[in-house]
Amino acid sequence: MLSGWRDVTARRPWRISAKLLIISSVVTVIGFSAICVNVMLDMRRGEEALARQTLENLATTIDADISRNIEVYDLSLKAVASNMLLPEIATVAKPIRQLILFDHATTARHFGAIQVFDADGKLTIDASTLDPQAENRADEDYFTVHRDNPGAGLFISRPMLFRGAYSIVLSRRISDSDGGFMGVVAGSIRFSYFHELFERLSLDPDDTITVLKRDRTIMMRRPFDLDVIGKNLGTRQDWKPDNLRAGGSYAGKGPVDVTPRLYVRSSGSGPLFVVAGKPLGAVFQLWQKEAYRIGAVVVALILFMLGSTLVLAREIGRRAEAESKLEEMATTDALTGLRNRRKFDAVIDIEWRRAMREKTPLALLMIDTDHFKAYNDTFGHQAGDQVLVGIAICISDSVRRAGDCAARYGGEEFAVLLPNTSAADAFRIAETIRAKVQGWSDGGTGSTVSCGIASLVPSAGMDWPILVAAADKALYAAKAGGRNQSVVASLPQLSLVA
Ligand code: GH3
Ligand code: MG
Ligand code: MG
Repeated sequence: MLSGWRDVTARRPWRISAKLLIISSVVTVIGFSAICVNVMLDMRRGEEALARQTLENLATTIDADISRNIEVYDLSLKAVASNMLLPEIATVAKPIRQLILFDHATTARHFGAIQVFDADGKLTIDASTLDPQAENRADEDYFTVHRDNPGAGLFISRPMLFRGAYSIVLSRRISDSDGGFMGVVAGSIRFSYFHELFERLSLDPDDTITVLKRDRTIMMRRPFDLDVIGKNLGTRQDWKPDNLRAGGSYAGKGPVDVTPRLYVRSSGSGPLFVVAGKPLGAVFQLWQKEAYRIGAVVVALILFMLGSTLVLAREIGRRAEAESKLEEMATTDALTGLRNRRKFDAVIDIEWRRAMREKTPLALLMIDTDHFKAYNDTFGHQAGDQVLVGIAICISDSVRRAGDCAARYGGEEFAVLLPNTSAADAFRIAETIRAKVQGWSDGGTGSTVSCGIASLVPSAGMDWPILVAAADKALYAAKAGGRNQSVVASLPQLSLVA
């Protein structure tokens, strides 16, 4: 029976507190949100990488097409420049000369007819006609660059109106065998070439394709805007060279309009390069949709989780309160408000073991009301109950140390457990209680109590019923001695502390 009680007190059921529940929920929510944010950012990076790759492929494809056409056209210019040195050119008939100088590549749709200018800039030969009209281009930069610089190579002009169509002019120097300046051979690629090239691609209206010269002059742009064509971006702060490395990319405002885009530059090594741009809004459109969808689900889940946590926490709080109330009711004597017998048995078991561990004395007072049966018989049970309440108050008033335990042992008997208390000190406390009861009842109920006192240092092999039996024995001695007195148990065979 006693060991049964011991088990209950030793193994308290595991409990989750409301605070712990809230903390673990908040930690879970934070962890869950962090994972979600991380996954979303990863998806975003993935979308950006995919867009960058697509734009790079686009820019490089356009770059390759432009470079190949410029190369083909340049081969024709080179052929004219070298064939012009043939001595026969001056003597053969004009149709034969045309056949020697110009191949069919130069008659392609978007290429302008090749023209040859002499050292003074005068038009001498024109691929489109046998008798060209008089023209002088000595002031044009595609002429002067070769006149002033023998090593200029292939020159690509700024976009200009050339022979009635917007074009870029390509020119090469004609040098004699000593390197002397003999004139310039020039041709043009019309804007229609770029328009057609861009139209072949499936692009969104806000996508941009910009074709630039190495010095960052805009040669062509989609969407087409004549105001932008020919502008040099080398001086523009918002399109820094760092942002435009070959094969590189950057996200932000471009040089022409305010729409933030992802810009990717082609990695080709031709005389022109291409930058393809896509608005960031379009790049992340799908991601954004997905992010909103997942975000809404996650927020709903988090709210649900926090809501149910709060409900659970409140329920746990209510239960804990009810349990502690129940526990208090289960351990308190209803009449006197002292601890009941059940609680006393649990406490004495714990204190006994503690005293054994710490080798300190444990004292017990057994207090019994004198002639209580007679009192009941005379004044009735209700009056008797009031006496018991009065005695309980006298006991509580005399036992104030934190570890002390005053209990109603049964009927009109009380027990007071005093940890770390010698028999002498316990006797003093018993006498205080006895005197208090007497003082309280003098002139009233006339009730008195008798006290049996025992105190010992528990040692191995002993159990607490020894202490109870000793105090009980001392109580009988007090009764036998005439009642209304305190008697200390004599425990010579045990380690009695007096
Ligand atoms: P002694 O001095 O030898 O202790 O005499 P006593 O009459 O007190 O002892 P006894 O054991 O003969 O009687 C105890 C009485 O206590 C019997 C019972 O009526 C009374 N009693 C026990 N519990 C209660 C209680 O809760 N209320 C009241 N009013 N009386 C109680
Ligand atoms: Mg009794
Ligand atoms: Mg009694």
